[in-house]
Formats: sequence, structure tokens, C-alpha cells
Amino acid sequence: MNPLFANLPTTVFEVMSSLARETGAINLGQGFPDNPGPEDVRRAAADAVMNGYNQYPSMMGIPELRSGIAAHYRHWQGLDLDATTEVMVTSGATEALAGAILGIVEPGDEVVLFEPMYDAYLPLVKLAGGVPRFVTLQPPHFRLTEEALAKAFSPKTKAVVFNNPLNPTATVFGAEDLALLADFCRRFDAIAISDEVWEHVVFDGRHQPVLGLEGMRERSVKIGSAGKIFSLTGWKVGFVCAAPHIMKVLAKSHQFLAFTTAPNLQAAVAYGLAKEDAYFDEMRRDFARSRDRFSAGLETLGFRVIPSQGTYFLNIDITPLGETDDVAFCRRLVMDHGVAAIPVSAFYAEGAVKNVVRFCFAKRDETLDAGLERLAGVA
Ligand code: PMP
Ligand code: GLN
Repeated sequence: MNPLFANLPTTVFEVMSSLARETGAINLGQGFPDNPGPEDVRRAAADAVMNGYNQYPSMMGIPELRSGIAAHYRHWQGLDLDATTEVMVTSGATEALAGAILGIVEPGDEVVLFEPMYDAYLPLVKLAGGVPRFVTLQPPHFRLTEEALAKAFSPKTKAVVFNNPLNPTATVFGAEDLALLADFCRRFDAIAISDEVWEHVVFDGRHQPVLGLEGMRERSVKIGSAGKIFSLTGWKVGFVCAAPHIMKVLAKSHQFLAFTTAPNLQAAVAYGLAKEDAYFDEMRRDFARSRDRFSAGLETLGFRVIPSQGTYFLNIDITPLGETDDVAFCRRLVMDHGVAAIPVSAFYAEGAVKNVVRFCFAKRDETLDAGLERLAGVA
């Protein structure tokens, strides 16, 4: 067996969700909303199933979704993408990440990773034979610095895996951070694999795609996920956008990773991406309301909340509670208090930060309030 996988622990999301199921805890760990998702989009999927969208679709995705993605990004992010050469549909953002990393990184290439990082990144870089070079972001602001980038980039840097808004910190990199990143990518001739699955959950201002930055059009892979955009996380419909010379490689890796993605769901996502602005604006407002409710509740209970600027996550700093081990703290929360959360050390390669705990607030008010009730007395 490949030791890379044989020696990997089970993902923290699965571990915490299983514990929540076994103990009957309120699951504020793994990120998924508890609303059913937009009815018209689900209806479009059901109609597509009944109307014959059920055989292998084209490898690159059904044409109406590829042009829908290009139109969506033109409207929301000002990008000018050619749907036939620069857009591909994948089986979730996870497949897009795998395809991009395996397609771009050669053995011995260095890959810059910002930690905390989504848990799929590092195993994929290792699988490709890449050498990770970490930029370690520290709470509470998790900001990029030029010094940290200068230490991580080298002439061997092939790619950087970037995530904005950042899961799990719920921070949003601003224009200056992005300009700095783009500058390093240009100087070191590196490709930015930009995981933008949270692009529609930015609470202040508009999302800035890396691909739209000066000089990044030819060196970016933009990754999105319909699961996030429509609160339908189980659908696993993702997208990848890149200049034609990069897309040619991504298509080759896609053909042997997933080859295609459920065509009926693709049709429904094409329908959904064309929805009026009001849907997307309201989704963001709803998440902001939940965030504010949960954040205020935590603060009232005495927790130190780290502000959430994007994603549907929110973190607390457990240092004031006298806690130094987020994993042990989360285990106690779920076993003794009936609330599942995620220890953020799981997103650091060597567990460099152990004092931050992540909650998912994309839940009904009753669920958030019940969670808060159970957390009373912890702080
Ligand atoms: N990247 C990030 C940062 C994520 O948060 C997630 C899922 N929450 C993914 C990738 C995976 O997305 P998908 O479910 O579309 O594979
Ligand atoms: N992205 C979700 C999270 O961060 C869950 C993803 C997963 O379960 N793999 O919680």
C-alpha cells in the first residue's frame, strides 16, 4: 500500500462528524448548512434527471454549464473567460485541486502552502512528489507578510496553493495581500492554484479573483464549488478556470481522475448560476445574520471570538480559558457538552497553532441557540 495514504489519519471532518453522530452532539464542526438549499435549483436537478441528462456528458462539462460559469464570473468578478478553452467542470473543488496539483507539480518542485490550510492540499502535494514550503499564518489576524513570502519562494517554486476567503480562519485577504502574492508569482514564475470556493461568502466588499490580478491571467488556476454557492455540499460539482495552455494539462489529469461529473447536477448548477443577484446577496445576508447571532452569543458566554470576514465559519481563541490543546478541548466539548467543533491545529502541518477552535454557523437559529446553551459554563 502507498504509505502516503496508509499513514494518513482520517480527516478531522469525518472524525468530528462521526463523534457528533455517535454522541448525539450538535454538529457545528464539519462545514455544511442545515437548510435544504434553493428549491428551484433542486427542482432543476430533478427535472434534468427525469428529462434524460443521465449518460456520460462531455469530459469538459456540459456546454450550458461551461458558458454559465464564464457568464457568472463575467457578471460577478469582471473576468473575461472563453467557455470553450478556459472553463472545465470537475467533481467538486476537491477533484479540481487534485487535478491541478497532480497536473502542474513535478517531483522535486517546491509548492508554497499557507497554513492553516484545507486538509487536502498537503497530501496532494506530497502525492505529486512536490516539496511543501510553508507560510505559517498566526492568529488572530492570520496576515501575510513579505518576509514570510520571501522565505518560502525560491527558484524551485512551481506553484502556490492559495485559499481566499480562507477556511478555517474566516479571514479575507485584501488587495495589498493579493498584490504581494501576485508579485511573488510573477517574479518566481509560479502558478497560483487559487481555491476560491468561498467567493460568494465575503461579508464586506466583493471577492477579488487572483486570475484577475495584473500579470496573473496566464499563471492562475481558479477553483470554485457549486456545493458552496448553493448550500448543496453533497453535490460535488466544481469548476476550474485557467488560460488555455494550463487548461490543456488540467483536462489531461481530469480525464483519469473523474472524467465527468453528474450531468443532471451540472444542468441544475447552470440554471442556478444564472439566478438573479438577489439570491446571492440574500444568501450572504443570511449567513451574516447567523454569524452575528452566534458571535454575540459566544461573546456573552465569555468566549474570545476572532471576527469572521468570510466563509460560514467563526473561530474562538481558547487561550483565555487556560486551554493549550485544541484537540483535547474539542474532544471535551463533544463528549461532555454535546457540541462538535473543529480543532484548527488540524490545518497546520506540524500543529504550529493549538489555541484556535472553529465553529460552523450555517445553521438554523434554534440549532445555534441550542449550541450556545450547551456551551454555557465552558468559558
Ligand atoms: N476547498 C476548501 C477551502 C473548502 O472549504 C472545501 C469544502 N468545504 C473544498 C475545497 C472542497 O469543495 P468540494 O466539496 O466542492 O470538493
Ligand atoms: N469544507 C468543509 C469544512 O471545512 C468540509 C469538507 C469535508 O468534509 N471534507 O468543514
